Amino acid sequence: MSEKPIEIVIIGAGFSGLMTAYHLIKQTKSPLTIHIINDKATFGKGPAYSTPALKHLLNVPAAKMSAMHDDPNHFLDWAHKQPAYKTINRDILGKTFLPRQLYGNYITSIWEEALKTKREDTQIDIIYDTAVNIDHAHGKYTITLKSHAPVNADYAILATGHEAPSNPPIPNEAYYNSPTYIKNPWLIDVTKLIKPDQNILILGNGLTMVDTVISIMDSGFKGQIHTLSPTGFSVLAHRHNHLEYKDLVNEIKEPYRLDELFIIGHKHFRMLHKIGISAEPIVDSLRPLTQKIWRSWSHQEKETFLRDIKSIWNKIRHRIAPHMYDYVQRLRLTGRLVMHKAKLLDIKEDSKGIIVHYLSKHTQTEKTLNVGLVVNCTGPQTDIAKSEDVFLQNLQAKGMIQADSLHIGMDVTDHWTLIDAQGQENPTLYTIGGNLRGLLWETTAIPELKSQTAMLAAKILSNKGHQL
Ligand SMILES: Cc1cc2nc3c(=O)[nH]c(=O)nc-3n(C[C@H](O)[C@H](O)[C@H](O)COP(=O)(O)OP(=O)(O)OC[C@H]3O[C@@H](n4cnc5c(N)ncnc54)[C@H](O)[C@@H]3O)c2cc1C
Repeated sequence: MSEKPIEIVIIGAGFSGLMTAYHLIKQTKSPLTIHIINDKATFGKGPAYSTPALKHLLNVPAAKMSAMHDDPNHFLDWAHKQPAYKTINRDILGKTFLPRQLYGNYITSIWEEALKTKREDTQIDIIYDTAVNIDHAHGKYTITLKSHAPVNADYAILATGHEAPSNPPIPNEAYYNSPTYIKNPWLIDVTKLIKPDQNILILGNGLTMVDTVISIMDSGFKGQIHTLSPTGFSVLAHRHNHLEYKDLVNEIKEPYRLDELFIIGHKHFRMLHKIGISAEPIVDSLRPLTQKIWRSWSHQEKETFLRDIKSIWNKIRHRIAPHMYDYVQRLRLTGRLVMHKAKLLDIKEDSKGIIVHYLSKHTQTEKTLNVGLVVNCTGPQTDIAKSEDVFLQNLQAKGMIQADSLHIGMDVTDHWTLIDAQGQENPTLYTIGGNLRGLLWETTAIPELKSQTAMLAAKILSNKGHQL
């Protein structure tokens, strides 16, 4: 009698969902059916790698972007075979910030190879739809979809990735219903809504702002872009990218107490500063240890980090290609881009346009701006308790998932299974990627996700005999 296939459903096919499916295909030694549900046609790419703009670049050099945990040069080797990059010196290519669109093609090529080489008894079922709910009864999951028939499975993986940004609080919340407001620039082509004679306001001053500015400028926009954020321009360029610094990592010892790390870190920052080197090599050197350090901290230490250190950590961690940084600065010098260090007070709209009220942090005075479009680039909302996503709302309403105690991801066990509202582990419901932020902190970029996806596939395949 032939073996009954294990059925696994993956909700979300960004890098995390797709690469987990890839590793399931590669690792399975028995019949398997994988249902993959993705709500957009950006299969495997997510918002990061589905951009059509060639100037939207990876924020990590090519040599560090392999999707394979056991083959560090996988992406570089693939990119070097592409017609546009074939003739470029391989070492130089490895140090280059390549288009994110190219990375999307790379993921597609990995997937196509997996489909060609899969076992005959592995079935792949791809559904373009939105998962809206999950029921779990008699060991089976039933996933309700917006348009298609429900999907049944033995295991479910929530690979839902980035949520849309939330609306910054303002008294006139009704403005957020206006067609002149773009809540999620990863979903909507901003350039289609530009009015050539009206300026634009971008809320937020981080990496999404940089992408949005590039797209707007490339569309031929002749006006002025304003950005508004409480910290001013807070993006750094990749500097000292090839300078390895191990002194701090060699000095710190377990248990990693936050206060001690802070003192030691500060000492190293000062030493490097004296010889003209900024903090990036120190933060980069901590990357392989970050999850271990985070996990060793108490709840209070994690709260302190999130309150006092997170924003400077993120600023140093998430940097952009030096020439894109210079491009942004050039726009500032020529007055095309004006960055306000300011607090948003309100947004009003009348027949003449949009009036943005803000408190300038420089002058401590209230000011206004007239614009034709407002784009929210404040970054993804991470507290699932405040999620506007129907699927996550439904799962929380039935107590199947809950926010972790820090409200930066989902409440999970050390094996990445979900903990329900009663505090019980659900041993066949897994999550991955940003949803593990409370457990791991650094869990959204390729260097972390490439290992995570392989490990999740191995966990499920080794688990299945015991759980069903
Ligand atoms: C603009 C941008 C640029 C980035 N650049 C880099 C970079 O250069 N290098 C790097 O290492 N990292 C980068 N990152 C980090 C990035 O988060 C990861 O590299 C990776 O793309 C995350 O993949 P994911 O699958 O976890 O999430 P996502 O890519 O967000 O994928 C989740 C998928 O699930 C789908 N989904 C969600 N809910 C449902 C539902 N209910 N039903 C059906 N489908 C659903 C979504 O539509 C999406 O397709 C970038 C991120 C962004 C946003």
